[in-house]
Amino acid sequence: MADYYHEMGWRELGDGEQPNHLLHMARFLIDCGLYEDNFTGEWPRLPPAASKEAVKNLKEVVIEEVSEQNCPICLKKFRINEKAKEMPCQHLFHEKCIITWLNQTNSCPFCRYELPTDDEGYEAFKKEKKRAEQRKEDIETLHNSMFS
Ligand SMILES: [Zn+2]
Ligand SMILES: [Zn+2]
Repeated sequence: MADYYHEMGWRELGDGEQPNHLLHMARFLIDCGLYEDNFTGEWPRLPPAASKEAVKNLKEVVIEEVSEQNCPICLKKFRINEKAKEMPCQHLFHEKCIITWLNQTNSCPFCRYELPTDDEGYEAFKKEKKRAEQRKEDIETLHNSMFS
């Protein structure tokens, strides 16, 4: 491990110094440009809660007919005249169930459709993810135009 850090031009830790692996890793990725090119597209933890605005704007539905459909969160069937919320992906949930859920994380528990969040860091991450995907497409397009 010492050689590895040496190659990277970092000094070894002195007595009593604590390594900071995350920081090392982040610097390693940035120094080598890997962060940009090997963007993994994964958020390292549960995405943040959905924005209050997005939750407020969810479509309200009143269940009008008996169906075999369950709320994917509590797994109970919807009852007639029960209020439900519809996500933009058209999945239905009990109002209470989905609001509790969206206070934890921003995506549909059924299909992972994502609502916007109030978290700047996460929104920046999503933009970067899009850019990384776009870049990949651009490279493929370029590749195809050169080799076909
Ligand atoms: Zn429910
Ligand atoms: Zn969904």
